[in-house]
Amino acid sequence: MSARVRTLARRASSAAYVLAYHAVQHRVSDPVLDRYALDISTFRQHLRFLKKRRKPIRLSELIDALSDRRAPDPRWCVLTFDDALQSQTTIAAEELAGAGFPWALAIPAGSIESRQPVWTYALRLLLLEHWQGPTIPHPTSGDVVMPTGRSERAQAIDAIVRWLRDTASGEQRARYVDGLRATFGAARFDDCVAADGRFMPAQWSAIRALAAGGVELLAHGFDHYPLNANLEPQFRHRETVDSKALIEQRTGVNVAGFVLPNGISDAKVRSEIQQAGYAACLTSQAMAVTGETDRFSIGRLDADCPLEILRLQLFWRG
Ligand SMILES: [Zn+2]
Repeated sequence: MSARVRTLARRASSAAYVLAYHAVQHRVSDPVLDRYALDISTFRQHLRFLKKRRKPIRLSELIDALSDRRAPDPRWCVLTFDDALQSQTTIAAEELAGAGFPWALAIPAGSIESRQPVWTYALRLLLLEHWQGPTIPHPTSGDVVMPTGRSERAQAIDAIVRWLRDTASGEQRARYVDGLRATFGAARFDDCVAADGRFMPAQWSAIRALAAGGVELLAHGFDHYPLNANLEPQFRHRETVDSKALIEQRTGVNVAGFVLPNGISDAKVRSEIQQAGYAACLTSQAMAVTGETDRFSIGRLDADCPLEILRLQLFWRG
């Protein structure tokens, strides 16, 4: 082994990380709708690798270290799961319990309460799989022609989702999503979501059971609205304050951490999260956690990837 490789290998084990997962499914086959999902065999590879090479800990242990300005153990890793999907409280939970790993579930409180999928999942599923008409409503320019090819359709839908995420106000987003649901037929859409299964939110009862078994609960917004400068104060309050209150009310568990929906934040977010009573905020920036890390800006590595990519991320970002 050359000196340079030895240095890199040492670096690979020289930093603590938080990993961000989404769905864990028995099968992953669709590059569009399953882009935020891991199949169970890849997930098992991750767990075996982490068991061998890392030391999975509770998020609270990491937050305590950062609060005390102690450098985290470089083998530490924290596993977080975003969006509180049914697949996480069933498939992923079982695998994690089998591995004996602590983990944290990031909950969009309103999605669990209303039994509605997070809006980005809902729009993609509805428009890509179930929308029949030749046109789709556009948030700004009336109706637009829906391309016939699947990948062209996916691109057109992505453009709408991006606009709603990055440019729309909370009001505009809510109006569009609610309008689309009503036009399609709310009950019919609920049936489609249930039959598909991939984007079904978990139930409060399942979340309570996990919490009782030691899984940490984090808030992940209320309606999973991005906390950007376009989000009106009443929506911001709902995302940060009401989400924590609702999760605590439904589970009886203190919610210490906030996970930014879509990893998006603006300058005000950190103080708002702090004022809402959280002890930490997790982003989607791929960064190691060190003794200098601000606990209101803890980076996470995207772990919805093959094991080789996860290994590379841990290696190169060390
Ligand atoms: Zn999310």
